[in-house]
Amino acid sequence: MYYPINEIFQTIQGEGSYTGTPSIFIRLQGCPVHCPWCDTKYTWMCSQKENVSVKEIKNKNQANKKWSFLHEKDILRILKKWTTKHVVISGGETCLYNLSNITKTLEEEDYQCQIETSGIKNIICSLNTWVTLSPKENIKPLYTSIIRSNEIKFPIFKKEDLLYVYNILSKIKDKKKRIICLQPISQNEKALNICIKACIENNWKLSVQLHKYLKIQ
Ligand code: SF4
Repeated sequence: MYYPINEIFQTIQGEGSYTGTPSIFIRLQGCPVHCPWCDTKYTWMCSQKENVSVKEIKNKNQANKKWSFLHEKDILRILKKWTTKHVVISGGETCLYNLSNITKTLEEEDYQCQIETSGIKNIICSLNTWVTLSPKENIKPLYTSIIRSNEIKFPIFKKEDLLYVYNILSKIKDKKKRIICLQPISQNEKALNICIKACIENNWKLSVQLHKYLKIQ
């Protein structure tokens, strides 16, 4: 199956439970959610004007709107030049695409898959894929996405954002163990303090976007 790919790179995961884990990021193109604080606005549109060759995507070394369709087998070939075995499929919005083929293909080659999504559509991936759901207030996640998630990471800017967190969590009725993370938006100090306090009170995890502090991709 072919996927619209914006970039593929190796780095350190800076968010959620896998923070600090060497990871290969596969960034998909396309996102209809349009969060105001989005760090990857260049992935929002799948414009034909920006549809470039596979070679150009393979050699990309700066963030931009260019993308190309890659088959999972081509993606696997790219991944093999690196040592990392943890793969993060991010976006853009990953749940726009059926990720069964790519996650299964990667698992057959001993990769651990993680996807990052806002869950606005059904999440279709292998059973072993670690699903990081990051709900956004402007578009609510599907209940099925909440149930499929392994961790839920909430972006927080102000105290009132915690009401949304409590609201989402109050709707979960299953007994599955999920990790709950709070992530201050844009390293804002006030937001960070709100998150620290709420994490300690509720036994949640703090997700600080480590890559931003390390100044890496
Ligand atoms: S869902 Fe993710 S990629 Fe889409 S706009 Fe929001 S932060 Fe950006």
